[in-house]
Amino acid sequence: MNNSSDKKPKRYSGEFTCPHCRVFAQQSWVDSRSVKDRFGLMTTQEFLDYRKNIGSYDQGIVENFIRHLLERMQSIHVSKVPQSLSIAICKSCNEFTIWVGNDLVFPRKSTVAPPNEDLSSEIKGLYEEAQLIFPDSARASAALLRLCVENLCRELGLSGTLNKCIKELVRRGVSERVQQAADYCRVIGNESVHPGQIDFGDEAETVEYLFHLVNDIADEMLTKPRKLKEKYSSLPSEKLRQIEKRDGWWLIFQSVLKGNTSLFLLHNVV
Ligand SMILES: [Zn+2]
Repeated sequence: MNNSSDKKPKRYSGEFTCPHCRVFAQQSWVDSRSVKDRFGLMTTQEFLDYRKNIGSYDQGIVENFIRHLLERMQSIHVSKVPQSLSIAICKSCNEFTIWVGNDLVFPRKSTVAPPNEDLSSEIKGLYEEAQLIFPDSARASAALLRLCVENLCRELGLSGTLNKCIKELVRRGVSERVQQAADYCRVIGNESVHPGQIDFGDEAETVEYLFHLVNDIADEMLTKPRKLKEKYSSLPSEKLRQIEKRDGWWLIFQSVLKGNTSLFLLHNVV
């Protein structure tokens, strides 16, 4: 079983998570050495094909010419293709990545997961900006991801500092998991702007984890409630009436007090 660091793009790795299609896929590599080898194979194949059509007395001449051509062209290829340049072609999507030495120079985007679909377009934009800048500055990404959490709190109707927003979320009964994820983003994001107190350790790994946390928070706060609401609303209207009758107006009153009008609306619809 591969762990996540085994899946990251790495020069001359036979398989990694493709930055284009995000599939953990086999990669075929092209560099000055492989170009030289391939040219040799192609030239030899051409000679074998051509030989079929000529008299045997000429074969020695053609063979000498091919040998000369191979030596000449191979040395040209080696000198013309930079030694540090290599290209990997993804077997899944056929797109390529370009490498200079051990650095991935194209595409300049990370392999972290895309933003949660339920985030607003504004927060998705911030998240994607963090993805773009991540290969160049993990700390700048961390600051943007902190801003994602802060904006999500605003969209949930909270105000004040992020610290105050998280306090309010705890008061409203969010899970400890959400609180810890939000606080981790708050502290690490803040540290990235005002460094000095925390040792990041592996900076890229720490910030990559922040991407997961932002999506986790969105999953808890947006996706799971949305899915539950959809499922609940799909119950037969008779069942919903029975539930309503069982719990009465008290449940609706409580929901409205908490700012959740779905049950109130549901009551008026069924
Ligand atoms: Zn791919």
